[in-house]
Amino acid sequence: MAAFDVAVIGLGAMGSAALFELARQGKRAIGIEQFEPGHDKGSSHGESRIIRLSYFEHPSYVPLARRALEKWRELEQLCGRTILTMTGMLEAGYPGCPVVEGSLEASRQHQLEHEILGAAEINRRFPAFRVPSHWTGLFQPDAGFLRPELAIQQFVAQAERHGAEVRTGTRVLAIEPLSAGVRVRTDAGTIEAGSVIVSTGAWIGDFAPDLRPHLTLTRQVLGWFSPLRPDHYTPENCPVFMLESENDACYGFPDFAGTGVKTASHRKGAVLANADALSQDGDVADEAQIRRMLALAMPDANGPLRAMRTCIYTRTPDEDFVIDRSPVDPRIILASPCSGHGFKFASVIGEILADLALGKTPANDISRFQIDRFRTRTA
Ligand SMILES: Cc1cc2nc3c(=O)[nH]c(=O)nc-3n(C[C@H](O)[C@H](O)[C@H](O)COP(=O)(O)OP(=O)(O)OC[C@H]3O[C@@H](n4cnc5c(N)ncnc54)[C@H](O)[C@@H]3O)c2cc1C
Repeated sequence: MAAFDVAVIGLGAMGSAALFELARQGKRAIGIEQFEPGHDKGSSHGESRIIRLSYFEHPSYVPLARRALEKWRELEQLCGRTILTMTGMLEAGYPGCPVVEGSLEASRQHQLEHEILGAAEINRRFPAFRVPSHWTGLFQPDAGFLRPELAIQQFVAQAERHGAEVRTGTRVLAIEPLSAGVRVRTDAGTIEAGSVIVSTGAWIGDFAPDLRPHLTLTRQVLGWFSPLRPDHYTPENCPVFMLESENDACYGFPDFAGTGVKTASHRKGAVLANADALSQDGDVADEAQIRRMLALAMPDANGPLRAMRTCIYTRTPDEDFVIDRSPVDPRIILASPCSGHGFKFASVIGEILADLALGKTPANDISRFQIDRFRTRTA
């Protein structure tokens, strides 16, 4: 018998959540991470991530978001730390823009609480914003932000508390299917498990070469700015936001940590050759790019630059996730839930991955995330 029921490769957002779910179910689980949980070299760092119920990308994400929200609250209860802060969310942009229209559609289909606002009403209610007079917007109260590094560290800590083994500073080199189970070869020995979850984020192509042509890694730059009117940018006065102009879509957060207003482009991002190519090299061109949206719609946030950080999006052509059994071997579970919007779902994706690894059918519908869809596209 293999030493472990399940091995989880990569303890970022998805892997740490999966390890926690397996351990709390009493499974013999091991998590292997090349760096330390909460590190800044992948896709899960930078202080904050938006969570929202109304989903402009597609209404079918709403049930997943609902379950994710429940499970974030459960994690908070278990660890006694604040991981989630609800602020509501403002989505605004030019008339007919996909962000507002998509969110409206999702809100209507799923009867989510929302308000449609004109520019004058947005600017009156939320002085953090001065959006152009022809813009429209949607406010959803069931939204806010998560603290990603803390969440990952707590998932790992809770997993260990329930008996999971964790190896950090250990790089997985290969996965080899055996007749009974799977062998995981690392730079510090081998491990055998009944099944394996590959939650290696931007590195997923290393273990799923057939997936690589369908994934594009992009360098995303985050900027923190000292607001000119700090009172307008507290979490009580400023919701999380997504603003869409004809040229870009930018999202951001109130100044909840005294580090400034954080904002970034969701659409722009230079292509990276591979995940190891990311460096913390934000420059004046990146700063100018981010400031364009602040100048257009949030001039009082357009103060001195406090910091810039880079991070990786792993984009699929349709911007939907990949969560599926490997076509090579069903005991290998592949999870690449990014395209720039996966973090909020980590709590429920952990549950889904644990089910898949244990041979169960997940309660949530994940048919949208099947690998097969790429084959259909190219056929
Ligand atoms: C700038 C930015 C902003 C974002 N904003 C939002 C947002 O507001 N809301 C939202 O919901 N989502 C957002 N996202 C998306 C979200 O953060 C990602 O979907 C999510 O963090 C991806 O998690 P992951 O577990 O797949 O990857 P990661 O958290 O990067 O984890 C992968 C892990 O695998 C490890 N690993 C890789 N290869 C190996 C190996 N060979 N051996 C051992 N370990 C290995 C890595 O070191 C890493 O720790 C954003 C992403 C970025 C980059």
